[in-house]
Amino acid sequence: MLKNNLGYPRIGSHRELKKACESYWTGKISQQELLEVGASLRRQHWELQRAAGIDLIPSNDFSLYDHVLDLSLTLDAVPERYQAVLSAHPQNNALDMYFAMARGYQKDGLDIKAMEMTKWFDTNYHYIVPEFTKNQSFRLASDKIFNEFEEALQLGILTKPVLLGPVSYLLLGKEKEEGFHRLDLLPKLLPIYSQILERLHAAGAEWVQFDEPCLALDLTYKEKDALRLAYGTIRAQFPTLKTLLTTYFDGLRDNILTASHLSVCALHVDLVRFPSQFDDLLVALKEPMSLSLGIIDGRNVWKNDYAKSLQFIQKAVAKLGSDRVMIAPSCSLLHCPADLALEKDLPHEIKNWLAFAKQKLDEITDLYDISVNNNVNVLTENQAALMSRRTSPLIHKQHVKKRVAELKEKDTQRKSPFEVRQSKQKFLLNLPLFPTTTIGSFPQTEDVRQLRANYKKGELTPKQYDTAIEEHIQKAVMWQEELGLDVLVHGEFERNDMVEYFGEQLEGYVFTQNGWVQSYGSRCVKPPILYGDIERPRPMTVRWTVYAQSLTQKYMKGMLTGPITILQWSFVRDDQPRSDTMMQLALAIRDEVTDLEKAGIKIIQIDEAAIREGLPLRKSDRKAYLDHAVEAFRLSASVVRDETQIHTHMCYSEFSDIIENIAAMDADVITIETSRSQMELLDDFAGFNYPNEIGPGVYDIHSPRVPTVEEMIGLLKKALTVLPAANLWVNPDCGLKTRKWSETEAALKNMVEAAGRIRSLV
Ligand code: GLN
Ligand code: ZN
Repeated sequence: MLKNNLGYPRIGSHRELKKACESYWTGKISQQELLEVGASLRRQHWELQRAAGIDLIPSNDFSLYDHVLDLSLTLDAVPERYQAVLSAHPQNNALDMYFAMARGYQKDGLDIKAMEMTKWFDTNYHYIVPEFTKNQSFRLASDKIFNEFEEALQLGILTKPVLLGPVSYLLLGKEKEEGFHRLDLLPKLLPIYSQILERLHAAGAEWVQFDEPCLALDLTYKEKDALRLAYGTIRAQFPTLKTLLTTYFDGLRDNILTASHLSVCALHVDLVRFPSQFDDLLVALKEPMSLSLGIIDGRNVWKNDYAKSLQFIQKAVAKLGSDRVMIAPSCSLLHCPADLALEKDLPHEIKNWLAFAKQKLDEITDLYDISVNNNVNVLTENQAALMSRRTSPLIHKQHVKKRVAELKEKDTQRKSPFEVRQSKQKFLLNLPLFPTTTIGSFPQTEDVRQLRANYKKGELTPKQYDTAIEEHIQKAVMWQEELGLDVLVHGEFERNDMVEYFGEQLEGYVFTQNGWVQSYGSRCVKPPILYGDIERPRPMTVRWTVYAQSLTQKYMKGMLTGPITILQWSFVRDDQPRSDTMMQLALAIRDEVTDLEKAGIKIIQIDEAAIREGLPLRKSDRKAYLDHAVEAFRLSASVVRDETQIHTHMCYSEFSDIIENIAAMDADVITIETSRSQMELLDDFAGFNYPNEIGPGVYDIHSPRVPTVEEMIGLLKKALTVLPAANLWVNPDCGLKTRKWSETEAALKNMVEAAGRIRSLV
C-alpha cells in the first residue's frame, strides 16, 4: 500500500515565496536570489515529505506563480504580445516574460496587459487562463519539470512529477479566435506530452501524476473521447511508465465508467467530497488498475477521522489487495495552510481538532501504520480528539441548534410584497429619483490601517481607538454631505476585511496567526476557522452606524456582510451540512438587522459578494445550493418592517444563470458591478423583468481613472432603455477602499452631477 501525496503548499510556512517574489518585482533582490528561495522551499518540502514517510512525493507541484501558467510556458503556449518583453530585454530572459503574462508589463515603453485569471474550480485559488489560437502550435519550451525532478534526485528523493493532464489543460483555456474548438488541438498537444514523458522516463521517473480535475465536471462525449485518446496514446507509447490519473473536488458520478476504463495504472478519487462513489468504483475498477483513496481532506483544516478512513482502506484492500491501494489526501494540499505547529495562540482544545498540510502528511502515515502495523495507540488518540470535538460545549450549543430547527417559513418572508414595500419606502424615505449612494468602504489610508494595528497591539485604549474611528467617520459624513450624496455610509474604517470583522465578533470562530493559503501569485488569504455553533453575543455594527447617523439628517446605511459570503470565505465545520451553518450565520445577521432597525436605521445593506462563487461544480447540485443561499439571505433580511429598506450588493457581472435566484432574494435594492460591461448585463435583469430596484455601477472602482460626467450619463441612459426610472439608483461598482481620496472625490463629484443631469432629463 503506497502513501501518496498529490501536491504541497508552495508559498512556504512563513510566506517566504510571497516575500521573495514581491522583492524581486520591486527590484530589491536579484533573479538568482528569488530562484534560490524557490529551490530552498522545494528542498524543505521534499525532505519534510520524506521524513513523514510518503512514498509518492510530488515534484513540479511547485510554481513561482501558477502551475497552469508554468505548463503554458512549458508547451510554448505564449500569446504573441509577450514576445516584446523578451526582445526589450534580451539578456533578461524568460522569467520576466513569465511574470509579464501573470501580472502585465508596464516598462521599457511597453504596456502589455496580464493574461486573464480565474478561479480554479470551486477553490479560492486562481489560475492564469491559457489562450489558444486556431493555428496554435506547441513545442517543448522549458526544462522546469526535468530540473525539479533532477533537483530532488540529487537529494536522494525519487519524485513523482505532476502534470496537468492535456484534456483539463485545454478545457481550462480559451479560444481567442473563432472557428475551432480548443479540444481540436489535442493531437498537436500530445506529441509534446510524449516528449516530456520520454525525458522523464529516461531520467528515471517511475510514476507520473496526471491531474484531470475535469473528470469531476459534467462532460460531453467529445470530452470523454479526448480523455480516451490522450491516455490511450500515452499508454501505447510508454507501456512501462506508471501513470496516476487524479480527479478531485467532486465525485466521478456519471464519469465513473469513462475514468475506470482509461489506460492508466492508478486512479485517484476524492472520497471526502463524494464518499458514495466508493462502492461503484470498487466494482468498476478492472485489474490491474490501482485506486488512490483521497480520504484526507485537502480543502479543510480538520483532523481526519481514522476510524472512518480505515473502513475505506479495509474494504479496498479486501477487494483489490493491498498492492492496488494507495492512501492520499483528497486533492493537492495547496489549499490548506502549511503548519499547525506554528499556531501559538489557538485554544488548546480547538488546536487538538485541527490538521494543516504538514499534519496531514502524518495522517497518511498514521493510517498506513494502523492498517499495516496495527498501531492501536495512534487510533485511540485520534478517536479521543474526535470524541472531544463531537461533544465539546465550545462547539455545541443546544439553544442555537434549537433556534434553527424551529424556523418557520414566515421567518424568511417580508411582511408585504415588494410593490407595497416600495410605495411605503418611497413615501417615508422621500429620496429623489436616481438616488446616489456608495457601496460602503472609503479609502483605507495608511493611517487608518495603522490605527487598527496599534489598537490590536494594545498601544491604544479602547476609548482612544473609538475616538479616532469616530473622527474618520465624522470627516467622511461631512465630506459626503458636501458632495451631495443622498444615502450615506459610515466608511467601514473599523474593518480590516468584510468577513474577518464579523468573524471576530461571533462566537464559534477562531483566527490563526499563520494559516495562509495561496489565492493567486503572491496573494494569500487567511480564512478564519468556523468551528462551532454560531452566536452573536452582542451587536457588531450598531455603535458605529448609530454614531454616523447622529451626524446627519440624511439616511445612513447600515452595512453588513451576508451569511453566504461569511461562509464562503471561511474554513467551515465538516460535522454538519454547510446549509445548517449558513442558517446559523443568517440568524446572527438577522439579529444585527433587528438591532439596527431598533436603533432607528432605515436602510440596511447586506453584502453577498460570494454567492456566485459558491455554485457547485455539477449542474444537478446547483438548485439545492441556490435554494439554501436564497433562504439564508431572506432569513437574515426579512425581520424588518416594510418601511425599512434592505439593500444587497454583489460584485461581479455574470448573472444570467442565477437571475431568478437573485430576484428570489427579494432585496429592495441591489447594487451590482456593470460599468466594465457597459451595462450589458442589465439585459439579464430586464429580460427577466426583475421587479425590484437596481443600482448598476456607473464607474469602475478597480482603476484610478476618474470617469467623466458624460460617460456616466451615457451609462445611465443605457440603463434607462431597459429599466424604469423609478427603480434606478446611481452608485459605483463596488467599495472604494483601495482608492485614494482625491480620485474618489473627483469621481463621486462627477457621479452626483451625472445623477442631477439625468433627473432633469426624465
Ligand atoms: N461593503 C463592502 C465595501 O464597500 C463591499 C465589498 C465587496 O463587495 N467586496 O467594501
Ligand atoms: Zn463589491
